[in-house]
Amino acid sequence: MRVLIAGAGIIGVLTAWELRRRGVAVTLIDPTPAQGATRAAAGMLAPVSEVQYGQEALYPLMLASAAQYPRLVAELTQATPEPLGYRQTQTIVVGVDQSDREALANLHQVQLRFGMDIDEISVAAARRLESALAPRLAGAFLIPGDHQVDPRQLASAALDAVCRPGTADGPPAQLIGQRVRRLLIEGAPPRVTGAVTDDGTRWSADVVVLASGVDATRVEGLPPHLRVPLRPVYGDIVRLRTPARLLLPGENTLFTSTLRAQVHGQPVYLVPRDDGGIVIGATSREDDLDAPSTGGTFRLLRDASAVVPAILETELVEVMARARPGTPDDLPVIGTDPELPGVVLSSGYFRHGVLLAPLGARLTADLVTGSPARDATEASYRAATAPERFSASAQPAATKPTTKPPTKPKEPR
Ligand SMILES: Cc1cc2nc3c(=O)[nH]c(=O)nc-3n(C[C@H](O)[C@H](O)[C@H](O)COP(=O)(O)OP(=O)(O)OC[C@H]3O[C@@H](n4cnc5c(N)ncnc54)[C@H](O)[C@@H]3O)c2cc1C
Repeated sequence: MRVLIAGAGIIGVLTAWELRRRGVAVTLIDPTPAQGATRAAAGMLAPVSEVQYGQEALYPLMLASAAQYPRLVAELTQATPEPLGYRQTQTIVVGVDQSDREALANLHQVQLRFGMDIDEISVAAARRLESALAPRLAGAFLIPGDHQVDPRQLASAALDAVCRPGTADGPPAQLIGQRVRRLLIEGAPPRVTGAVTDDGTRWSADVVVLASGVDATRVEGLPPHLRVPLRPVYGDIVRLRTPARLLLPGENTLFTSTLRAQVHGQPVYLVPRDDGGIVIGATSREDDLDAPSTGGTFRLLRDASAVVPAILETELVEVMARARPGTPDDLPVIGTDPELPGVVLSSGYFRHGVLLAPLGARLTADLVTGSPARDATEASYRAATAPERFSASAQPAATKPTTKPPTKPKEPR
């Protein structure tokens, strides 16, 4: 079987890895691999601290995918010498004022109702865990199971594993630096037999996977069933480097936990990297500015410094903005078209693409290889992510909010 994957972001690359493990020959096509949302992402693997009201259908997917990370990391560590930037360190969520604490406490009730592992701790206890935290905070919560990975390192390592000879059953993948322009559709009844790139080359394949992030549904020839509404939700994100004098004794970081906060009603997070880097994010904008926003960058630094004042003494390394591929119900869209075999759509991972990538890659690979759902749980993931939920006759009851919150914190990223 030969499969073309349009898009080598985290979803395309991990889908390629999953397919190669199943013995499939893969060609990845992307003019700028891993330079989309994957390049910007903080890489929080945060099924608990990412809980938002009204997203009940998403929680099981987030938890299931987070649970697949140790297996994925073990496989890739065997297959490539490249680092993955996977850190199984905890997350601490803090509220800066009383209403921030109250909003987090309300959300805590939802998290507990879904059996998630999160404890309220005292601010003093939080500061004993992380001395860099500001002294005046109103509340703190500890989440031991929300970890992180460096998406740039993960994508690069996975691409190396996918293209390196001898790492899995299938042949090494090919990477083509082109943009997929249209699907090749042939035969009666018609089916997708490949794709054409911008340089006019025709690429034959048994299946084409559209994993091109926010642009996944722009390819010409897309059947109506897969023309789902994807929209860009821009996120600004800032990267800092910690000077040696601020590093914790015996560590290469200013703090070791991922720190998340509500700051006077606004969300912010600070993610420490192994090399002394700190990632601060992220805004959530639905405007026409595809470059970093001045106001957004200002707010991120202002709010992050209310949580960790010492960040104002660090080096400013990078500010960037990228588009998250948003869907109307915030769930990814993974599916085929019953009328036109040979094409699989895998996009719409919105704010959680890095977290959801192992599960998304597996569900996508199952559709490519025609594998039935392994059990009822997996069948429910298929139903939750199916494109038909956007068709006129669909009943989206499963994704409707069932909880009416007293206070609603804004989207964290
Ligand atoms: C600021 C920010 C912070 C984030 N933080 C997190 C986080 O902490 N945790 C988390 O889980 N998620 C996070 N996300 C979300 C996550 O980054 C995305 O959900 C994820 O990267 C989506 O992956 P993707 O592969 O679908 O898309 P992308 O990473 O955008 O990749 C799409 C690829 O397709 C290519 N492409 C486009 N058109 C074509 C074409 N026609 N032919 C061929 N190739 C094409 C592009 O060049 C690109 O390389 C964040 C996003 C942003 C913007």
